[in-house]
Amino acid sequence: MVDSNRTALVTGGNRGLGLETCRQLARAGLRVILGSRDEPAGRAAAARLAKEGAHAEPCALDVTDTASIAGAAARLAREGTRLDVLVNNAGIALSGFDAEVARRTLAVNFFGALDVTDALLPLMRDGGNIVMVSSGMGELSEVSPPLRQRLLDEGLTRDALVELMRSFVRDVERGTHAEAGWPSSAYRVSKVGLNALVRVLAPALAPRRIHVNAVCPGWVRTDMGGRGASRDVATGAASIVWGALNAGGETGGFFRDGRRIAW
Ligand code: NAP
Repeated sequence: MVDSNRTALVTGGNRGLGLETCRQLARAGLRVILGSRDEPAGRAAAARLAKEGAHAEPCALDVTDTASIAGAAARLAREGTRLDVLVNNAGIALSGFDAEVARRTLAVNFFGALDVTDALLPLMRDGGNIVMVSSGMGELSEVSPPLRQRLLDEGLTRDALVELMRSFVRDVERGTHAEAGWPSSAYRVSKVGLNALVRVLAPALAPRRIHVNAVCPGWVRTDMGGRGASRDVATGAASIVWGALNAGGETGGFFRDGRRIAW
């Protein structure tokens, strides 16, 4: 039974943790919008869920494409959709490490989540929940102490964080990223940035009682996690769904399996 009073949108919902998150949210009774950059893949995923009795509506959404994000937001606005839950799940983990890998990784994992959140915030109900699907790989112990201090600074602004993430790409281009205190992993930096974004957005959205949390699904057997990962997709997605339903009203935190973990 779909509870049309509560609506969730999941980015990268066509496979892996995103698809399983759609499945679990639909089973929990929410109306689910399944975002996918590849429209046929999104339709096929929704059809697969429908066969199991879990309803999800496909929606074209490439988180790196401004026009695609605007198109999805316009479509939802036209339909009169209000969102209670936004799960920024879309992510990539490329092999290798160079400026192009850094740029592409941050474009999806950090800027994609930020841009989608900005575009969909006007459609969110006050009291809603935003989940950033992060990773234990984004622990602050990965960056140098001075960078750590800047990222943890309570005065960190959104503009300063965006500039810091851009500076990482520039540092990789120049070959100075290690000197600047960054690890040689674009994936780690993107998740460090996403975690910092949670700390910046949570107080900014507090007046609307919109909760923003980062959630780690653990190491999960998906295309990204690989077959050797320790967790099945249902367990990993349950960690995300916990954040999406956020019964405890947490905000500004980083959680795995409903328990707070270190930044
Ligand atoms: P996955 O199986 O590789 O799936 C990634 C999803 O993101 C796919 O649906 C993919 O769409 C989508 N995506 C990539 N680029 C996109 C874009 N530009 N716009 C929209 N969607 C895009 O990965 P996963 O394991 O499910 O990971 C999901 C999230 O969990 C990621 O944020 C990842 O960093 C995080 N995470 C995963 C693990 C793990 O062990 N698996 C651990 C910690 C955190 P396409 O099908 O079109 O490529």
